[in-house]
Amino acid sequence: MKRLRSSKQRQMILEAVKARHDHPTADQIYIDVRKKNTKISKGTVYRNLGILAANEEILNVKVSAADRYDSRCDYHYHAYCISCGKTFDVPLNYNPQYDNLVEKETGFKVKRHRLIFEGLCCDCMKDNKYD
Ligand SMILES: [Zn+2]
Ligand SMILES: [Zn+2]
Repeated sequence: MKRLRSSKQRQMILEAVKARHDHPTADQIYIDVRKKNTKISKGTVYRNLGILAANEEILNVKVSAADRYDSRCDYHYHAYCISCGKTFDVPLNYNPQYDNLVEKETGFKVKRHRLIFEGLCCDCMKDNKYD
């Protein structure tokens, strides 16, 4: 019975994500779901969002993850290890063509763009049992 309830909750959370097109935060989803089910806890919503993302039923878009600071001030790209969180510079030049293209196509005044490559670092690759 518990299993059935949890899949029903997950379905409700999935529908709440699908009902919006503004890349909602977990908190926004929680507020929406609470309107339909006042008993659901924040932990349940967060946990199910994680499961839905892991199942690739929804996409986790990290627009602003935890703030990190870099002594290097020129615009450059980073790689982020999804296993240990290690963040490092990648040897790729900043491409201002993307900024110009987005400005031209959308009228959005672009200041800069950020690019983060996500994957496994060399250390985590050694322990990786999946491939
Ligand atoms: Zn790693
Ligand atoms: Zn850097």
